[in-house]
Amino acid sequence: LIAFLLYLFYLVAPIGQLVNGAVQLQQGLAALKRIKEIEELPAEPVGAPARASAEPVGVTFDDVSFRYGDDRPVVHDGVSFAVPPGGLTALVGPSGAGKSTVFALIERFYEHQGGTITIGGRDIRDWPLTELRAALGYVEQDAPVLAGTLRENLLFAARDATEDDLRDAIARTRLDDLVARLPEGLETPVGHRGVLLSGGERQRVAIARALLRKARLLLLDEATSQLDAVNELRLREVIAEAAKETTVLVIAHRLSTVTGADRIVVMDRGRVRAVGTHDELVGEDDLYRELAATQFLVG
Ligand code: ADP
Ligand code: MG
Repeated sequence: LIAFLLYLFYLVAPIGQLVNGAVQLQQGLAALKRIKEIEELPAEPVGAPARASAEPVGVTFDDVSFRYGDDRPVVHDGVSFAVPPGGLTALVGPSGAGKSTVFALIERFYEHQGGTITIGGRDIRDWPLTELRAALGYVEQDAPVLAGTLRENLLFAARDATEDDLRDAIARTRLDDLVARLPEGLETPVGHRGVLLSGGERQRVAIARALLRKARLLLLDEATSQLDAVNELRLREVIAEAAKETTVLVIAHRLSTVTGADRIVVMDRGRVRAVGTHDELVGEDDLYRELAATQFLVG
């Protein structure tokens, strides 16, 4: 029996390796393709143009379909919604609905397979990648702080910003308290080698960075972790403040964020169920009512 099992093992092991090898080859080819795409991009100055034309852009998804690979399940199955330039749009829905994938497609980390995505009225496939990325600001759930001072963190992608711009961004993102608290103010090293910032502070630093760089569309994946009441209130104010300046699309986990949104897109299992304001959706959509009553409130 042992001999038979050994024989089976020898028979199966190479197949496993072969499959593994094929997957690796496929991944390698995909990476090569991406490198080639990047190499083929025309050389463009990044940074300066983004600040020069900083009008907010809208986003539309029209019957978008997407899967992460031919052998992967369908993630987006005819997703449609429209976000006009400016204002606050919240994306809500159960885990796995496809919310983060909406961001990945807007950033063009992946190409959608069907339908049309437009940014600023222009097909996303017609945007030079560098120009698209310069127009976008992405604030992660657990926004990282870079090594260096708070000033360096804020000006990371906006070296031509003035002191006035900096003061303005700090005020808008309610970071004055933090600056006042730090021993050397803006010149204080932050991050793991310096003063540790809370999750809420790090998200506000990342939003300030995006505002300074004049992002035309801000993608914000709201932290799921609990913030204390003061930080939650501040973040809500800052999101509202950012939405006066640019288009903000937020994956929302908090009721306070969605109640303040101009419109809410409710996603479920790769489709858009409903779009409306909080009051409209509470009246019209069972899933939204349920989420509002439970998930948002508990984070
Ligand atoms: P949400 O943000 O609404 O929770 P996601 O967009 O993250 O949903 O995920 C939607 C589906 O796509 C899930 O089934 C998830 O497992 C899958 N998925 C997400 N990212 C990837 C990836 N990089 N590769 C393969 N599948 C993924
Ligand atoms: Mg997600």
